[in-house]
Amino acid sequence: MVIAESPKTPIIPITEIEQSAFCQTDDELQAKSLEEEFQAGVRWQKIPISYLKAKPEELDARIAEARARLTEQVVILGHHYQRNEIIRFADFRGDSFKLSQFAASQGKAESIIFCGVHFMAETAVILSQDHQRVILPNLTAGCSMADMAHIDDVLDCWDDLTDVLPNSTTVPITYMNSTAAIKALCGREGGIVCTSSNAAATFEWALGRGDKILFLPDQHLGRNTAVRFGIGLDEMIIWNPFKPLGGNSEEDIDRAKIVLWQGHCSVHTRFSVKQIEEARRQYPDVNVIVHPECYMEVVQAADANGSTETIIKTIEEAPSGTTWAVGTEISLVNRIAQENPDKKVFCLDSVVCPCSTMYRIHPAYLCWILDGLNEGVVVNEITVDDDTKRDAKVALDRMLQVV
Ligand code: SF4
Repeated sequence: MVIAESPKTPIIPITEIEQSAFCQTDDELQAKSLEEEFQAGVRWQKIPISYLKAKPEELDARIAEARARLTEQVVILGHHYQRNEIIRFADFRGDSFKLSQFAASQGKAESIIFCGVHFMAETAVILSQDHQRVILPNLTAGCSMADMAHIDDVLDCWDDLTDVLPNSTTVPITYMNSTAAIKALCGREGGIVCTSSNAAATFEWALGRGDKILFLPDQHLGRNTAVRFGIGLDEMIIWNPFKPLGGNSEEDIDRAKIVLWQGHCSVHTRFSVKQIEEARRQYPDVNVIVHPECYMEVVQAADANGSTETIIKTIEEAPSGTTWAVGTEISLVNRIAQENPDKKVFCLDSVVCPCSTMYRIHPAYLCWILDGLNEGVVVNEITVDDDTKRDAKVALDRMLQVV
């Protein structure tokens, strides 16, 4: 018998509130000094004053010089959503899947500087070797979606599901965009981690092992993937962590095949069917491609959808002269446009909004980290406790085997 508890008060993650801080109506997203960027009212990690005032050109030269002195002691990983001023220093760039494969496969550099967000750096800690350290240049670079799933709420949900469904096997799948603690829960409970590159493969894996899936934290990726397997919307429920039993009855839970955590990406939920219609009105031959973190209606209205790597590859391989409207993060869309001058590539959303947390990796932070390493000082090392690491690695290793 499950006893309903009083609802908790919803808290909007600070990362979600800050999402519009750097939105603008033109496409010139160029770094300013950190002092100037702070004028948007954002609250990022404190940094010594000399870095705060440095102009982007000065930082560029200082980073190049500091990076060269460190040679093979460091490797810089850059997620595709990073600013150009950071990506130009990345030894490897990729989406979270590709970068996690990279972190698992190389053991040379003693410092991995992860220009991405917190959950990615944690994943690199879990997958890298013991002699390596992982550094996140700005400790406040989180992810609003990951912030929507707290381990205590997820543990409550898991206990509720186990109580309501004593005779069922629920397989937990967590999207890469979640804390190490949630990945560890998946490792302990027969679950797996997925990324947008391999979500379908992990669904297939999970459906072969249990009768239900708990998918978290992104309800949209979960729903879009389930639909591909022919699972109806009436077989999916949303789990709202602020309500008893996630806002569902015991019968709803019993009937459901997929339990979707109520989380979303504040960047990808900006895209709408109306924007797709507008793009088609302006460019009748346009190809629309979106990320599966978008709403289901948007994914279904698009011509194609796929992970960050799929979007890049699809446009790269498309014939010259084609037109592409893209529904994903603007730093990446701008870069694809620059790297494919023979095609017209633009963002579906005319208001330009970078992922506010990826944007927190300002060049001043990268410079600070590199200068520190040159002086033998490690700033912003990310750590994960041994038990969490062990259990999370189980779920991550399963992911790396399921392609
Ligand atoms: S784009 Fe969305 S999911 Fe990705 S890091 Fe930013 S907020 Fe998180």
